[in-house]
Amino acid sequence: MVDQNIVSELNKKADAENLTGMLVDLAEKFPGEVVFTTSFGIEDQVITDMIFSNNIDIKVVTLDTGRLFEETYKVFNRTVDKYGKMIGVYFPSHESVEKMVAEKGPLSFYQSLENRKECCNIRKVVPLKRALEGNECWITGLRASQSDNRHDLDFFVWDAGFQLIKFNPLLHWSLEDCQAYVKKNNVPYNVLHDRGFVSIGCAPCTRAIQPGEDFRAGRWWWENNSKKECGLHTHE
Ligand code: SF4
Repeated sequence: MVDQNIVSELNKKADAENLTGMLVDLAEKFPGEVVFTTSFGIEDQVITDMIFSNNIDIKVVTLDTGRLFEETYKVFNRTVDKYGKMIGVYFPSHESVEKMVAEKGPLSFYQSLENRKECCNIRKVVPLKRALEGNECWITGLRASQSDNRHDLDFFVWDAGFQLIKFNPLLHWSLEDCQAYVKKNNVPYNVLHDRGFVSIGCAPCTRAIQPGEDFRAGRWWWENNSKKECGLHTHE
């Protein structure tokens, strides 16, 4: 079991100029117990490229909610083709999805915040718990500038909800930094980014945003007062 004090040690040693080195060190410190969850957004594609191009021993997995965009499956496929590496997939429990959809219909998430959170819990949070099981460190593509909720992030944080260390390597990157990296390294990316989508989740719950709108404005846009998070990043 990881001691929470390790988090502050890791932050002291963090080197923003050498993210690949940080990923290598983590993989060596926690062999077989580091997992990266990707949703194939541009930030995640940067991290996937760093892991796969450098053959770093970090598991790359994704959550297939069953409601993703076709474009997301295409970038998933292009990523597997380019790197020739395995990406693990976690699906929701079919019993839970069948019960929810039978009782409330296929678009229950539009009806109330409670229903939306129920859907996110069944399709994302429960599968994420399975994906994180047995790991000591979870890598994410969060950036501090993505939303107000994320301004106080650090490279390493203790995730009390999932009881593991969370590493946010792109903490200080801007969207433009990610775009430049992807271009320079010929990394596959979701074409929806070219159509105004910044944060890409499930198809019925994601829309493009206008210039100047908040990064998360395209997620669950019909909700005005929620924090626009799906429960994956519980510390927020
Ligand atoms: S984003 Fe929408 S469709 Fe996807 S799990 Fe959450 S509520 Fe369900």
